[in-house]
Amino acid sequence: MRILLTNDDGIHAPGLVVLEAIARKLSDDIWICAPSEEQSGAGHSLTLTRPVRLREHDSRRFSVSGTPTDAVTMALRKLLPAPPDLILSGVNRGANLGDDVTYSGTVAAAMEGALAGIRSIALSQVYAAEGMADRVPFDAAAHWGEQVLRPLLGVPFAPRTLVNVNFPPLTADKVSGIRVVRQGFHDYARGSLVEGTDPRGYAYYWFGLHGIEHTPGHATDLEAIADGFIAVTPLQLDLTHQASLDAMRARYPS
Ligand code: MN
Repeated sequence: MRILLTNDDGIHAPGLVVLEAIARKLSDDIWICAPSEEQSGAGHSLTLTRPVRLREHDSRRFSVSGTPTDAVTMALRKLLPAPPDLILSGVNRGANLGDDVTYSGTVAAAMEGALAGIRSIALSQVYAAEGMADRVPFDAAAHWGEQVLRPLLGVPFAPRTLVNVNFPPLTADKVSGIRVVRQGFHDYARGSLVEGTDPRGYAYYWFGLHGIEHTPGHATDLEAIADGFIAVTPLQLDLTHQASLDAMRARYPS
């Protein structure tokens, strides 16, 4: 089984080391292609306005000067001798839950794989304390990763679908188990905005991330994490809201 790994936190991300250790329990045929710099929040962007540079770090280990989607695209179009059987993206430094999945470079890399018809899974490690981004404990992901992935290798993935996995901010022995749940939703009024003045006297603004809700929706990824479970959520790239189609069509009589 050939596995392609990527990570939106960059080729040197600690979570990529964790992911490689998980992947090597599944296969010896591992390829890595990741952005050269952190690309968190890049979403599903594809670099079109400048060239992308490719660097070989080691055998089957590459970085690109672009986005997570660029990294997967480069791997599929240029690097791998044949398409991989599996794409794993992560383990991300931080949550990719609820509505945040469309901002996520981690999830987007798996979306790109899904579009190419390849079984693709995004993995993220939630961390608890603010200001801890450089010291995220990947304990839950490291110890539970293989156990989460193996059943997903035997399940058929429908076309244009992917799986989003989040590990709770707990030591491995404190994790309650694994739940398959739907995508949750955030209260958008609560996103943070930091304002300040730069050294030259100009105002700047810095967007913060959404926190985990105190009362997340039932049977959602947010609730599973709040309850101490690993959240496994199948996602689809078809964003059509089916229930609105007929009502809108009725507004455009033919
Ligand atoms: Mn990231």
